[in-house]
Amino acid sequence: MFRSGESKRVAPARSGSNVDASVWYPPFMTHGRLEVVCGPMFAGKSTRLLARCAELAAQGLEVQAFKPASDDRYDGARHIVTHDGRRLEATPIADANEILAAIAPAVIVDEIHFLGDAVVEPCMRLVRGGRIVIVAGVDRDHRGRPFAPFPAMLCEADRVDKLHATCARCQGPACHSQRLVASDQRIVVGGAEAYEPRCRVCFEPAA
Ligand SMILES: [Zn+2]
Repeated sequence: MFRSGESKRVAPARSGSNVDASVWYPPFMTHGRLEVVCGPMFAGKSTRLLARCAELAAQGLEVQAFKPASDDRYDGARHIVTHDGRRLEATPIADANEILAAIAPAVIVDEIHFLGDAVVEPCMRLVRGGRIVIVAGVDRDHRGRPFAPFPAMLCEADRVDKLHATCARCQGPACHSQRLVASDQRIVVGGAEAYEPRCRVCFEPAA
């Protein structure tokens, strides 16, 4: 929280309910922060989100979660659901600007690759307003190319968790999502029937 050489500020004694929030809130509350969780499918991104949510709750921070309405896997239209079935209530959104309605000090947005670059500015508006924003999603598409909005999000991030899955072929560290069904669409919503994690060696990009 404090840089070396900087004198530690001591919060003044409380007097009644007259508390200056800018003094009492820790620095990250007044400056905002962007955290990015990314990797291929089956890397544990939603599990990491739920863990961060629990850490923030332990600090007394309320968390509000959002997810694209187009992601309806695992009966999860109103929840962020891990592959092993744990869930966190989330508001489905059709437009990235809907996250600006968030009132909690910490905001989570899952599966941001469904929202594209349109989600960057709303997230940064919340961060500039002092919020903790944590976003998660798949950072490479089925051809292995950077998936919007990750080039911009990774540049803006204060903290990055790049996760790996286990390669379905060789058990090595997987950074790619191998599409198993034929489609020219850049976005195909699916789970284990449509994708499997692959390492750089085993990945076969779509033509
Ligand atoms: Zn492999």
